Amino acid sequence: MNKCDQNCNTCSSKCNNGCPICNVLGKNVPLITVTSLLKDKNHYLNDNNIYICINRKCPVIYYQEENPKYFTKDDIKTQIWFKSSLNEQIICYCHNIKLTDIIEIIKNSDEENLTKEKIFEKLNIKEENNCIYHNPLGESCDKLFKNAIEFAYKQKNNE
Ligand SMILES: [Zn+2]
Repeated sequence: MNKCDQNCNTCSSKCNNGCPICNVLGKNVPLITVTSLLKDKNHYLNDNNIYICINRKCPVIYYQEENPKYFTKDDIKTQIWFKSSLNEQIICYCHNIKLTDIIEIIKNSDEENLTKEKIFEKLNIKEENNCIYHNPLGESCDKLFKNAIEFAYKQKNNE
């Protein structure tokens, strides 16, 4: 079977990159991200692409083409923000900053346009990121952080 190149028009193989439980098309994640987040280092992984299920209601976190074993939240060391309640959402996985922390900081600040950098300053964090090992998507949290800040300002201004 051909490896999936995400080009469904030319693909002759049966597409395997949908979640095995909910069938929603997943997002490709670097393998190194998954191996660093799995609790059990001995889980069997093959050489195929590995995906994260992006369906917020689905219990599956990671799955792989042609691997009958998939991984749920009990198998990984952290939680997935879009599968968690607002109170538990982690925004920056490298420094364990939660959405509630950002809301709190913005609520107690007089500054109008706090940025991720400024919030890092307030928390005394040096910007040393290892997103590929900590963030469940293996990506930087910049965008997520920005959205969280916007969310926090909206909440503050509505009060
Ligand atoms: Zn799913």
